[in-house]
Amino acid sequence: MLKARMTEIEKKITGLRDKIRKYNYHYYVKTDPIVSDFEYDKIYTELLELENKYPEYSNSESPTQRIGSDLTKSFPTVQHTVPMLSLSNTYNEEELLAFDKRIRKELTSDEQSKLRYVAELKIDGVSVSITYVNGKLFRAATRGDGIQGEEITANVKTIRSLPLQVLNTDEGVNIFSEFEVRGEIFMDVKGFKKLNEAREAAGEMVFKNPRNSTAGTVKLQDPRIVAGRPLDIYLYYLISPESNFDHHSDNLNYIGNLGFKVNPHNQVCSDINEVLNFCRLWEKKRHELSYEIDGVVVKVDNIAFQEKIGSIAKSPRWAAAFKFKAERKSTLLNRIIWQVGRTGAVTPVAELEPILLAGSTVSRATLHNMDEIIRKDIREGDTVFVEKGGDVIPKIVEVNLELRPEKSTTPEFPDLCPVCNTKLYKPENEVAIYCENTECNAQVKGRIIHFASRGAMDIEGLGEAIIDQLVDLGYLVTIADIYTLRRHKEALLELDRFGEKKVDNLLGAIEESKNRIFEKVLFGIGIRYVGAGAAAKIADHFLSMENLSSAAVDDIEEVSEVGPSISSSIVRFFENENNLQIIAALRDAGLRLEKAKTVVSSNKLVGKTFVLTGTLNSMTRERAKELVLKNGGKVVSSVSKKTDFVVAGENAGSKYDKAKKLRIAILEEEQFINMVGQSL
Ligand code: NAD
Repeated sequence: MLKARMTEIEKKITGLRDKIRKYNYHYYVKTDPIVSDFEYDKIYTELLELENKYPEYSNSESPTQRIGSDLTKSFPTVQHTVPMLSLSNTYNEEELLAFDKRIRKELTSDEQSKLRYVAELKIDGVSVSITYVNGKLFRAATRGDGIQGEEITANVKTIRSLPLQVLNTDEGVNIFSEFEVRGEIFMDVKGFKKLNEAREAAGEMVFKNPRNSTAGTVKLQDPRIVAGRPLDIYLYYLISPESNFDHHSDNLNYIGNLGFKVNPHNQVCSDINEVLNFCRLWEKKRHELSYEIDGVVVKVDNIAFQEKIGSIAKSPRWAAAFKFKAERKSTLLNRIIWQVGRTGAVTPVAELEPILLAGSTVSRATLHNMDEIIRKDIREGDTVFVEKGGDVIPKIVEVNLELRPEKSTTPEFPDLCPVCNTKLYKPENEVAIYCENTECNAQVKGRIIHFASRGAMDIEGLGEAIIDQLVDLGYLVTIADIYTLRRHKEALLELDRFGEKKVDNLLGAIEESKNRIFEKVLFGIGIRYVGAGAAAKIADHFLSMENLSSAAVDDIEEVSEVGPSISSSIVRFFENENNLQIIAALRDAGLRLEKAKTVVSSNKLVGKTFVLTGTLNSMTRERAKELVLKNGGKVVSSVSKKTDFVVAGENAGSKYDKAKKLRIAILEEEQFINMVGQSL
């Protein structure tokens, strides 16, 4: 009997471990979590409790014993000199008091009287270790699995608030010849929302929360895209053999004096009650901050005590995280409506009885798609729990079935487009449904809004309200019609709240937008899945709309970070006669459909043809191509007998093999750099 029960428990433990491993993979490696932190923490604690209760099943491979790893093979690995540990979590005041008790047990009574804590805000971002040598930023690495991380120096260097060269704000401070700072890279909520709006407008996947978008950003291959993302950093550890400060708080002051951003709310506390007050205060005030925090980190201040108390496998014993509760509230779901986006995707949105949640009023929540509605069994009239913890976008986590009204039914897909009444289409193997009528007013408006938006053509004064009117009145049908508006000046003057000056300003802004560079136009025309980053790379690679319009799927996939969904979407776009007409009209209007020509500054490589393959360490493939062009050479996408050189980066594949077969000269990255020079 006993044995049978134990097996059940073993099964349960194994099941929980498998679940957590899967969640870790999605969270750390794919940076696209599939469950909320709240759900994750719940099952993690359940596992921890079971493992404590039944130590016979403990196992060093359990996710409770290791740090979830974000290693991906995309970057060179770096060995951490001191492991980058995680923190043990406490979820309530009792657990925090128990932490204090454990600490005191390790100290003599004299030491106990000297015990101080530092309470710090736990910023919900991504931790990083940055090494400085002779005052200069030398290298930055992710936590990885705690023992080794990935080198992301170029990306970290784009963070404006991080000194590349330390300052000496307090004269006379001795700058250690080598030291490491650790801290949290994050995105403030405003920057995150703006980024997501631009991504949504481009039909790209939106990030779930600021942490998730930070994690995705620091692992991008192209530092130019990283530089455009609103990253920031707070530093919270100093490690250096040269440091002989007695306290963690002294370390923080020291790095603050060197020009690093240290969180201004950190507080030295003389006992655990002060820490508790700090936790209570910030749990209440967290939404007054411009960035997200998910708790408080408590650290023993005295470094000699830290050393005495020591660490366990996954976390130091002298520090703990006090995790805030995820904010969730219950409210009434009044109605499910269906919204049509610019790509024609029709998505369900829940209209809620407004509630104040995590600092803002919530009256809508996206339901993503029908699968989500069915999975969570959501119906109109339900009382639902809405959560914002860790997620800036509110979402429905659960239905309170006890309060379900009688006779409620599962919502059904609408048959017809809610805007233009066209029959909707559901592709096989896709969860989304689409309105395929490209003239559907919602899509027409969506496309024009996107084209005129900040990240694309940036036409000041052509916002949603005006576009609404102009589409409804029939002046705008396609994006190209924007450039014919000047012919309708009289009609514009008739519009709501439109005077002579406003119309002139708008027409001026439209005229001025013709100067936008090719990549902005390419982003603006709204090819599905082609976001701002992809548009820049594709523009660099193909140089003109004409080249791109005749490219095949394989050619497009040559561009780094461009996969099959983007490439096939581009090909489909140019197969559509309407789109070709729009492009022709944009060309006639005088928009830039070509990248400004590369100025050839040497003729070293005239007559030489190159093929680039694999990943280069010191530059992007686009940059490598530019260097060949500037030297007068040519770059093509496939290897043939006419190829002179194949430049092979890491993980070079079939092109490398073909070059070998055809006995074409293969250049390693260093040889290539010697040939073209880095600085042209
Ligand atoms: P953690 O986030 O609980 O705590 C450790 C981290 O806190 C450090 O690595 C550092 O990045 C950060 N931190 C912020 N401010 C700090 C400060 N002032 N001093 C020191 N560190 C500070 O630990 P973790 O291992 O990074 O992540 C575990 C948590 O991540 C889980 O509790 C869960 O909430 C979440 N998670 C979620 C999923 C999911 O699928 N939703 C999966 C894995 C992990």
